Amino acid sequence: MYRGHLFFDWDDTVALNIHLFREADQRNGHYLGGLFGRPVEEILLAASEFDLKVSRRVGLGRDSYPSAWVACYEHFCDRAGRRPRQDERERVRAIANWPYEQRQPLVDGAAETLDLLRQEGHELIVWTAGDGEVQQRKVEESGLADRFHEVRVVPKKDSAGLRRLMGARDRARCVVVGNSAASDVRPALELGLLALHIPADTWAFDEAQINVDHPLYVRLESIRMVPATLKARLSLAG
Ligand SMILES: [Mg+2]
Repeated sequence: MYRGHLFFDWDDTVALNIHLFREADQRNGHYLGGLFGRPVEEILLAASEFDLKVSRRVGLGRDSYPSAWVACYEHFCDRAGRRPRQDERERVRAIANWPYEQRQPLVDGAAETLDLLRQEGHELIVWTAGDGEVQQRKVEESGLADRFHEVRVVPKKDSAGLRRLMGARDRARCVVVGNSAASDVRPALELGLLALHIPADTWAFDEAQINVDHPLYVRLESIRMVPATLKARLSLAG
């Protein structure tokens, strides 16, 4: 029997991710800013709106971020009263594809912490949103795949999906660990699970109002604090 069942978010909880997209944003922002003679901030603001719209409509697919940037490019073409060009569209798409081709650096302390949690008898499950192939590849490339008992990739993380993933596991031993208020903390609290929130720089899709006074909400500064926190919190559950 496992001591606890830990549902770990992947991006920006175990491996660093958002900085790759910020870098691609900057590159496309400067490219389109130059093409259309607009301030980079204006391009970035429009792009983030397209990104949110696409992600909320179709979930976090492999193509949602590049598609949003192409839509943003076409929007500025439209505003400038000119037709989109295939070479420009392809360049925008190539820049937006770049983050998916990079190897993610690990969060400091992630490998040691996962090792320790496994030694202590926890079941470790990756619960991550995005494209199945992309997310699986990231886990494999991280060198941490063997630390996990299961990897579950979904288009969107919510409490209904989490409940299905939990199955017959004892709720009092289930814990969600993640950086996102919307995708990690909120589903956990909705199901009455312990939520270990390790805030990290994130994007608007991940933001949500959460009750930080909730008795099952714990905010941690680092993944390294997870084992000690679980010792203190899960002993109550037996
Ligand atoms: Mg995350």
